Formats: sequence, C-alpha cells, structure tokens
Amino acid sequence: MSPASLASAVLASAVLVPASAFLTPGSAVAPAAALRGGQQLQQQQAQATQQSASQNISSTAPLAAAGLAALGVAAAAAASRRQSRRSAPLAGGSSARLVGLTAAEKRPSTAAKRGSLDAKIIVCAGARLPEGRKLRVAVVGGGPGGACCADSLAKEGIETFLIERKLDNCKPCGGAIPLCMLAEFDLPKEIVDREVKKMTMISPTNKEVQIGQTLKDHEYIGMVRREVLDDFLRKRASENGAHLINGLFLGMQLPQKKGESYVLTYNDYNSAEGASRTGEKKTLEVDVVIGADGANSRVAKDIGAGDYEYAIAFQERMRIPDDKMEYYKDRAEMYVGEDVSPDFYAWVFPKCDHVAVGTGTVIDKKGIQKYQQGIRDRAAPRIAGGEVLRVEAHPIPEHPRPWRVKDRAALIGDAAGYVTKCSGEGIYFAAKSGRMCAERIVTNSEKGSRMIDEYDLKEYIREWDAKYGATYLVLDLLQKVFYTTDAQRESFVELCEEEYVQTVTFDSYLYKTVQGNNPVGDLKLGWKTLTSLWKNNNKKPDAMRTLV
Ligand SMILES: Cc1cc2nc3c(=O)[nH]c(=O)nc-3n(C[C@H](O)[C@H](O)[C@H](O)COP(=O)(O)OP(=O)(O)OC[C@H]3O[C@@H](n4cnc5c(N)ncnc54)[C@H](O)[C@@H]3O)c2cc1C
Repeated sequence: MSPASLASAVLASAVLVPASAFLTPGSAVAPAAALRGGQQLQQQQAQATQQSASQNISSTAPLAAAGLAALGVAAAAAASRRQSRRSAPLAGGSSARLVGLTAAEKRPSTAAKRGSLDAKIIVCAGARLPEGRKLRVAVVGGGPGGACCADSLAKEGIETFLIERKLDNCKPCGGAIPLCMLAEFDLPKEIVDREVKKMTMISPTNKEVQIGQTLKDHEYIGMVRREVLDDFLRKRASENGAHLINGLFLGMQLPQKKGESYVLTYNDYNSAEGASRTGEKKTLEVDVVIGADGANSRVAKDIGAGDYEYAIAFQERMRIPDDKMEYYKDRAEMYVGEDVSPDFYAWVFPKCDHVAVGTGTVIDKKGIQKYQQGIRDRAAPRIAGGEVLRVEAHPIPEHPRPWRVKDRAALIGDAAGYVTKCSGEGIYFAAKSGRMCAERIVTNSEKGSRMIDEYDLKEYIREWDAKYGATYLVLDLLQKVFYTTDAQRESFVELCEEEYVQTVTFDSYLYKTVQGNNPVGDLKLGWKTLTSLWKNNNKKPDAMRTLV
C-alpha cells in the first residue's frame, strides 16, 4: 500500500467513525463548526488530514473520535460563552459578536470601520424607524433561497421586494430534495414528480450496490422540476405580501453614510415596455439587500464578497424508451470512476417523464465533455435510444465565499456557497439559509420596526455555521478520501453495502439528522473502511462488469 493510500485509509476511518455524530446538525459535536467556515474550514481540513495521516492505524478511529469529540466540547463551551456575552448589554463590544465567522468576516468591513461607535449603538438600540415606515428588504433572485427568504420576511410584516429575472426559470438541476423539506417548508405532495426509493451506486468496474433498502415505506427522495418548485415558492411569497418584480438586477449603489439606503437598478420586464426584451430601467431604495442570485451572484460582486472555487456540472435531459423509463421510475443511479469524473460522481436521475444524465468536476473543467461521454457510455445499456431534450451546464460552488455579509447586505444559498460536497445538494440548504437569514432580520428588527446592521446579519452566519459547518466538513473529507482513485471509489461503493452506512446516510440526507449515535457501529465501520481500502489498494482491479 502506498503512503498516500495508507494516509487515505487512516483519514477515512477517522472521518467515518465520527461521521454519524458530525452529520447531525445541532448535535453535541456540531457546535465545533461555529469556529469554522470558509478559510477556517479549509485550515481545519488540512489539520485533520495531517493529524490523521500521522496517527497509528489501530488507534486512529477511537483517537480521532475522541479528538473530534473534545473539539466539540471545547466549541460547545465557546458557544455558551458567546451566548452569555450576547445577552449582556453592550458587553464585549463589536468583537464579542464576531466569533464563529470566516477570517474575512471577522475583519471589520469599511462600513463598520467608518462608524464603529455608531455601530455599537445601533447594535444594541437599533434605530427605530419612523412611524408608518417598515424595514425595506430587497431579495435578489427568486430560486428556493430567495423565494423562501422573501416569504419569511413578508409574512412577518417586513416590506419585501423579490426580484427575479425569469419567472419560468428552469434552473439546471437534478431536482432531488430530502423528505424533510416537504414538511418543513410546507410543500404540497403534488410538487414531487417522482418518489425515489431505490438508489444504485455503481463502482468503476460496474459493481452495483443497491442502497435505500433501509428506507421505510413512507420514505423517499423527492424529485421535483425546478420550474414548478421555484414558481410555487415565489407565488407563495407574493401571496404572503412580498412585491414580486419580474426584472433583471443590474447593480446597486452602496450606502455612503451610516443608515443610508441601497439603491438598486434593475430592468423591469413588467412595466409598460415589459413586452420588449430589455424592459424599463428602474431604481429601488431599500435598507437591506439579500443576494440570492445563485452561483454567478451579481450582488456578491457588488459588495466585494470575494470568489469561490466551483465545480462545473453538465447534464443532458433525455427522453428514453418507455421500457427503460420503467426501470428509472423510482430509481436514481450514481456512477463513480475516473472515466465519468476525476473528483465527483455522475448520475442518471429520473425527472417527471424523462431522465437527467450528467456529471461534474472541479479539477478538470475543460474535460467535462469527455466525462459526459463517459457516463453516456457506462449507462448506455439503460439509456440507449434516448433523445436529448435539453443540454445544461452550470457552476456549483465548492465552499462559502470569504464574505457572506457586508454592511446591510447578506448572501444565501448558492450565492453564499452552500452546496455540500460529495452529494452536491443545494436546494434544501438554499431554502434553509434563506429562512434562517430572514428569521434573524425579523427578530433583530422587531418585525421591521427597527433598522438593523452588519452585526445583526452576522448572527445569521454564526447560527448557520454552528448548525451546518460540521456537515460540510465531513462531506468535504469524504469526497477527498473516496472520489480520488478508482481503488478508493471501489471501497466507497463496497461500504455502501453496509446496512449501517445506508441508515446513517439516509437519515442524514432525508431528515438532516441522525437518530442517536452508535459507537459500536462506528468502530465496526472504521475497521471495515480500513480493510476495504487496504484490499482495493493492493489488488488488481476486478474485470469490468457489463450492465444490463
Ligand atoms: C446540474 C446540477 C444538478 C443539481 N442537482 C441538485 C439536486 O439534485 N439536488 C439539490 O439539492 N441540488 C442540486 N443542485 C444544486 C442546486 O441547483 C442549487 O444549490 C440551488 O438551485 C441553489 O438555489 P438558490 O436559490 O441559491 O440559487 P438558484 O437556484 O441559482 O436561483 C437563483 C435565482 O436568481 C435569479 N437571478 C440570477 N441573477 C439575477 C439577476 N441579475 N437579476 C434577477 N434575478 C437573477 C435566477 O434566475 C434564479 O432564479 C444541482 C446543481 C446543478 C448545476
């Protein structure tokens, strides 16, 4: 076994053993994430990799688990210290409210520097808005993030403007959502086109493992059409009081003085000249701006939020013969292998009356066509005779932006960089971040009667990192370990055969939680991971199997 694969094996066991605890948002360990995000998250990963590689194999799993648990305890203590600081009036000043943010976010922005004294006063008192005037918030982008944010704001009496450039937008997306999203976001069951109950993992040598066998009768992954989901969410926001503007956001003038408005410029497609392609140029003055305009966020650019690394995802929507569609009616497939992606997975996902066949990569974006051909070839027996309906490509963020809040502007969803590694999931996290950001604004502005500032918005970031930072970290590590070489990918698929892995995976995906920890199961899995990685790194790969 090479030193690299040995290190990977050790890292894998260190990752898998405590994974069930870490994948539980809000568990005792989760607050560790409060200390990380963006650059800090990357440092943490680098440290974890170094630590794991240098540890003795037999003691790695319990040691890593203990180490990470200790980290969790320390973080929990830090979180409780922060909590008590927050509740004390003016206590700790501004710095007390910055714990848990990325390094960039901790540095005061120009606006904060300019008026640090004012900021302190506003933080605690929050200027009351004139009688009859509510806090005005513009949400740019009407995807799941923006629509859910606008909905939560408008419902609570904030004057909300939701700007979406294309009301029938069909965002390139697999459209898979976790079961918990239906109840949590009160989505009608009819919005789900297909209920996926079977998931097939396919290794580089076409070894097939059926996962989803632990699913209960009522459990499934929902497959939605984005044009349907987004339209539903936007309409609901509008019914709850948000002003829905069909317009293209062009840019904004930032406040020059404390308390000044943001002035947004957009092309209004609903105006008298709405029939024309360009619409009518208009401006909008608001107190707060939420950037929910996706991976190519114009809001992020305007506030100088910095860039992030991204993956390019490519997919073809294909209508396949009925008998073949029958196979995919309640099944999704994930393929791994150097031929379909050097660092991610490729997929065949069922849509309402067709399938989406796609792949993604960060490290070889120029080779995306080659990998798309790879997944077409591998899945050929199952999609033969398919007619391509549509070809789509879109960036997927790899990690949060250096800044997610500046002054009175905040980013959510893809604009912030909230897609998980390993699975590429972003719909739920966009909607959730939109709602969490809105709830923080509603609370801190006392339902829109007071002005808020940067510190109020940063509370949303801190809450987000505390809840989900560990989930992102674990999935990032899993991707690094298992999507690297074909030997590692074989192990990944092999491990998916384990009932314990399936239970933990589906619990954490479907419900964003894991029901209790199982140290014995964790240890057994750690050992299995090691032996599987050892075996696959030291034997000749199996002969290629033929899919039927
Ligand atoms: C190929 C592919 C497959 C994927 N599959 C899945 C999956 O199966 N499950 C999953 O959970 N995630 C998946 N994702 C990720 C998911 O699509 C995103 O994470 C999610 O859409 C993010 O939602 P959002 O609201 O933040 O941004 P978006 O959905 O990108 O919405 C942004 C909105 O802003 C609007 N907008 C942008 N610029 C402007 C402007 N200047 N003015 C006005 N409006 C503007 C856009 O029209 C759009 O409606 C996939 C991504 C890709 C690329």
